[in-house]
Amino acid sequence: MIPGRRPEPWPYCCTGCGRPYPDDLLPYCCPACGGVYDFSGPLVYQNPESMLPDRRGLARFRSALPIASAAPLISLGEGGTPLLPVQVGSRVLHFKCEHLNPTGSYKDRGTAILVSALSSVGVTEAVEDSSGNAGASFAAYAARARIRARVFVPSSASGAKRSQIEAYGAELVLIDGPRSAASNAVRLAAEGGAVYASHAYMPQGMAGVATIAYEIVEQLGGAPGAVIAPVGCRKARRGQRGFEFASPSAVTPCWTRSRPQAGRSSPSPKMN
Ligand SMILES: [Zn+2]
Repeated sequence: MIPGRRPEPWPYCCTGCGRPYPDDLLPYCCPACGGVYDFSGPLVYQNPESMLPDRRGLARFRSALPIASAAPLISLGEGGTPLLPVQVGSRVLHFKCEHLNPTGSYKDRGTAILVSALSSVGVTEAVEDSSGNAGASFAAYAARARIRARVFVPSSASGAKRSQIEAYGAELVLIDGPRSAASNAVRLAAEGGAVYASHAYMPQGMAGVATIAYEIVEQLGGAPGAVIAPVGCRKARRGQRGFEFASPSAVTPCWTRSRPQAGRSSPSPKMN
């Protein structure tokens, strides 16, 4: 059960059976069919010209984010990263400097929205699993929101990543075995009643990640010709959703094989 009442309905539904996100629980997947949640309608794109000039970073997009109007944005100053032009041969490439976010990765954009949503309904404890930057991001924003965080991490994760998570005050739960073992362990905790603040499954953070696209369109003055992005899980691809609303006619997803020998493909959004 969620600790407090949700001030406004959450705009998510199950992609498997269509059921809306429940009012009285905080599941990371649909209790009825096991499907993942997504937005029940289009993301809200806020034109930069309508923003308040005194806001910075994600706060500039406040009215486009799925947070109750009365709830605070849990922020550490994420977003608003530079787009640096670099001459490469005959072309100019622009690099979006997401490493300048508070904990060093784009994950902060989504975590700010997810933790804001959890905080708005009174969550005081939550768990997450990560092998690196998502865990650090969650630890930092949970500390900001005074949420007690436990982060399940493969024991093989680098010492630097583990130190960063602990430095923000989260409890580090080391799990032996592959990355999937940490996922299994955190799901067991969720089945035991813990709030699973999953960066991969909870839908809240998607609108935060989409602000990468809003900023790029604003910084370039229009949609870019192409976007090249490394992807690990589907979260990075969520930035593509932002382009679909900032420049609706411009998006053509292009799937590029990064490991042809393994027969697996990775998505990369291509802009026309
Ligand atoms: Zn379902």
